[in-house]
Amino acid sequence: MRPRFPRCRPSSTRMLALLVLVLGFGIYCYYYASSPTSYSKAGNAIANEDGTGKGRAPYFRQKNHQLARVMPEQCPVIKENIVDIDTAVIYSAFEFQPSWLRSKEFWDKSFEDRYERLRNDSSRPRLKVIVVPHSHNDPGWLKTFEQYFEWKTKDIINNIVQKLHQYPNMTFIWTEISFLNAWWERSHPVKQKALKKLIKEGRLEITTGGWVMPDEACTHIYSLVDQFIEGHHWVKTNLGILPKTGWSIDTFGHGATVPYILDKSGLEGTVIQRIHYAWKQWLAQRQIEEFYWTPGWSAEKPNMIVHNQPFDIYSIKSTCGPHPSVCLSFDFRKIPGEYSEYTARHEDITDQNLHSKSKTLIEEYERIGSLTTHNIVLVPLGDDFRYEYGVEFDAQYINYMKMFNYINEHKEIFNADVSFGTTQDYFDMIKLRLKNIPTLKGDFFVYSDIFSEGKPAYWSGYYTTRPYMKLLARQCEHHLRTAEILFTLVFNYLKQSRSQHSVRLTASEKKLEKSYEQLINARRNLGLFQHHDAITGTSKVNVMNDYGTKLFTSLYHCLRLQEAALTAIMIPDPKLHSQSILQSEVEWETFGKPVRKLQISFVDKKKVVLFNPLAEERTDIITLMSNTTNVRIYDTRKKRYVQYQVTPNVDIRKDGKHVISDTNFDVMFIATLPPLTSATYNIEEHINKSNHCVVYCNNCEQLKSDKKKSNFITKKMMPGDIQLENSELKLLVNRNTGFLRQVHQKDMKRKHVVEVQMGAYQSAQRHSGAYLFMPDYDAPEKNVLHPYSTWDSMHDDNIIIISGPVSTEITTMYLPFLVHTVRIYNVDDPILSRAIYIENIVDFENPPKNRETELFMRIQTGIQNGDTPEYYTDQNGFQYQKRIKVDKVGIEANYYPITTMAWIQDDDTRLTLLTDHAQGSASFEPGRLEVMLDRRTLYDDFRGVGEGVVDNKLTTFQNWLLIESMDNPRKKRATSEQMYVKERHFSPDEKSTIYQLPSRAAETLSKMMNYPVNAFIIDTSEVGEVQVKSYQSFLQNFPPGIHMLTLRTITDDSLEQFPSAESYMVLHRPGYSCSVGDITDFKSSKFKSKTRFSGLHIRNLTSVSLTGLQTYKTLSGLEDIQLEPMELKTYKIRF
Ligand SMILES: [Zn+2]
Repeated sequence: MRPRFPRCRPSSTRMLALLVLVLGFGIYCYYYASSPTSYSKAGNAIANEDGTGKGRAPYFRQKNHQLARVMPEQCPVIKENIVDIDTAVIYSAFEFQPSWLRSKEFWDKSFEDRYERLRNDSSRPRLKVIVVPHSHNDPGWLKTFEQYFEWKTKDIINNIVQKLHQYPNMTFIWTEISFLNAWWERSHPVKQKALKKLIKEGRLEITTGGWVMPDEACTHIYSLVDQFIEGHHWVKTNLGILPKTGWSIDTFGHGATVPYILDKSGLEGTVIQRIHYAWKQWLAQRQIEEFYWTPGWSAEKPNMIVHNQPFDIYSIKSTCGPHPSVCLSFDFRKIPGEYSEYTARHEDITDQNLHSKSKTLIEEYERIGSLTTHNIVLVPLGDDFRYEYGVEFDAQYINYMKMFNYINEHKEIFNADVSFGTTQDYFDMIKLRLKNIPTLKGDFFVYSDIFSEGKPAYWSGYYTTRPYMKLLARQCEHHLRTAEILFTLVFNYLKQSRSQHSVRLTASEKKLEKSYEQLINARRNLGLFQHHDAITGTSKVNVMNDYGTKLFTSLYHCLRLQEAALTAIMIPDPKLHSQSILQSEVEWETFGKPVRKLQISFVDKKKVVLFNPLAEERTDIITLMSNTTNVRIYDTRKKRYVQYQVTPNVDIRKDGKHVISDTNFDVMFIATLPPLTSATYNIEEHINKSNHCVVYCNNCEQLKSDKKKSNFITKKMMPGDIQLENSELKLLVNRNTGFLRQVHQKDMKRKHVVEVQMGAYQSAQRHSGAYLFMPDYDAPEKNVLHPYSTWDSMHDDNIIIISGPVSTEITTMYLPFLVHTVRIYNVDDPILSRAIYIENIVDFENPPKNRETELFMRIQTGIQNGDTPEYYTDQNGFQYQKRIKVDKVGIEANYYPITTMAWIQDDDTRLTLLTDHAQGSASFEPGRLEVMLDRRTLYDDFRGVGEGVVDNKLTTFQNWLLIESMDNPRKKRATSEQMYVKERHFSPDEKSTIYQLPSRAAETLSKMMNYPVNAFIIDTSEVGEVQVKSYQSFLQNFPPGIHMLTLRTITDDSLEQFPSAESYMVLHRPGYSCSVGDITDFKSSKFKSKTRFSGLHIRNLTSVSLTGLQTYKTLSGLEDIQLEPMELKTYKIRF
């Protein structure tokens, strides 16, 4: 295999490989240039354009007025949930520069007065304190997972087992199952048993039970759920218990998705910690430290209670009460040679100081109690990687027990009960005293701390930091998901089709069974990367590289597994199943390098197997790499040739000349694939130049000596602005920048200003880093493209337009920094023909080039999304949240995470930007939406990692842009002032409004972008001609409105590296809006009696809790499955 550069990507030799696109059968797709003053068709059109749409393919489409005929089940109206606390509204109204900023502590006289009043209130229940020893173990941060385990974590877990045995009143909690698994695998059964005993006694609690404590901003729903399943399954199998409470104390802000998952997994309570300092004060003022976190849409109230820790962080300094200076002296850790702010105040409890110390401590606890109505206090006792020495256990236990005993024995003085306990003890206790728990919707982004410098620091940089890694994780997710589904389907299919004749495993079954261990590792490697210092990009560079290597290894294994599974299904001759005949068309070679693509050839690679990993039919664009232009594509399932085009690769030579390659081509074709179906396409030798693209380029050369035999027609560009056109859209591109400036929806006769800009914020040194985003307000935004605008504008040698029967695109180069492509498709598909594809290939070059640069892509439109702009972001690809700009604070406090999309809208129009990875986004000015692409800060931002971010890698960013009409006028939003209520009990007079959802097109495109078609080339170089099945479908009559999040084989209970016959099928019913956009073939979510897996018998089907720990009921068949809109549900299938 040879490396293939993505189209238009500058290579190390400053060469550019550029692919080309299509001219739509020469009929309705053209590019032409017009004068900049007029957007209408000018006389200098390069291709013929009649503007009438004559010759257009018949279009499948209905109009909006036919909406009424849609079944209500397909278009349920989802209302906004009405709750006590709507975070979006309250956040906008905060006082962001409170008077206590300098002192860093919100505890003021009013808090102190209330505390004094309450402690003298005899009607108040007695103070109850639960002190929870804990150790926060990051599975990678300053050191790798393995280094931390060897260096500290294994000792910590050993100490827990030993010291809890020694001290019967001591308790502990443990959260990261990745570490517990590492310890378990290396521990003697006697030690394992001792740990299980502590759990049984309720002294050691497994909190959350995820593989890691996941980040909540950058993570995607699949990976979040998957790592919870992995952790929970481990806990149930090895410890025989179900986690009951959650512990998420170090993630940088909190979202609504993790609480949803934990609630659906059967947890009863969970603890959160890092939220904006203004939220801390707001909740404390109102005595709200517990709430029900409900989803934004109408849904039943969760069972799980969420508890917010009232002060800054989870270390002892911030957990014993409101005064860090006091709390520091209650950290009794004393290790010889160790000096820190707490060792300086170290003072053991003695008979002499017992009374005074106990009094001081209990008063701090009482102050925490005064922030609640129930007067029960949860006090975490620990810090990062604490308790690695037995002497720390001794010191904390002995000193605290002295005080606890003294306090408990002197009720007449202290009127309090104090003990060690667990998170579950806390939730059990508060349930007895809590009444009227308020409901809350929204989330706690952006997180800001104040305690470091006494100035607000906004944690909105990590939404974008290290985009290469964030993308890699999503690609890994896609290939893991495909491997999971194929493994489950094929392994059980083979087993069931064999069982009548033989009990022995076939070679394919053995191969799959053997690779199951790698599937487990892939789940765990992807799970590990969801950690709040991994996907966030906030670990040291060598740790990031370690994560990257792990993801690469698992990508490799997932691809091999997909190949083995499909070989067993698609190649009828079992003798060939041990050979590598099916080869993934893409290959991740090593960490940091671009993806390689396999080349098709007439000699031995002329068949391609495509697999649609979605449980929904799709029409999609497939791009293969070819060494010849003389091809056509035959769909063996439908027995017909498909629409295709041949696109040249364009290299850029050192002298700046563009050279059209005569050995590398892209073959782009359209494939329609049923749900979970693999289908074979033949590549046939065929000469037909009408499928070759036309290249418009002022500086291009073809290598063929004989010009007449050139593969592609090249033409010069005409002066003036540039238009790209297909059946639905006309795009106007600014000739001076090469960026989009206007979109014309032809059938609606509407023109929209859609101005794309690339720019950058200059980072404030030492205030912007891996975690934090802070632009330098003394310097304006940078014209980051200026140093790269070196082309000859007279000749437009930075622009190439390529047009063919499938697509038309323009590529603009600011080499080597940016290659920007805008593409539209000439496809008879209502979604693909209306969407605009945007691709940015970004190369920051070696540092210190582009230092302190936070690169964004900005889209300025005429959409009136409010004078105080509002926009919508997805949350973890699962739900959606309205964001309202806060004028009082800067851009850094108005950045929000997205993982799949963001949109802005007014009464007429919605613009949606879809993305393929997690990044920061904002709507800071009316009509504007921007996303951050990459960041480079030379210096650390003082949040612990101790490094800047300079390891930027060449990264390809992909987006879809949709401009759609709004059907229903939006309800005017209430002003934030009206909604801001100061009382403890408040019922914001919120009108019942519609929960805003993505359009049908956005929802579908987003799924297609997340889970592209998997392509495999049949390599017959070693075996000669082979027979290949034309197709295999795995699913029949599955409702297209239901997304199969995963279908994941469950590991055997006793043989822990082997698959069982059971699997979890996690289903999601994604919401979409029926009133936005023009697509009206809405999707049913109803299971039918004919819904089934093809060739697979289901022996048993039960509904279970989300992570599979609790069994609800047995179903008679798939037709019994029902999901509410937006719901996520798991079923256990025994095949
Ligand atoms: Zn952490």
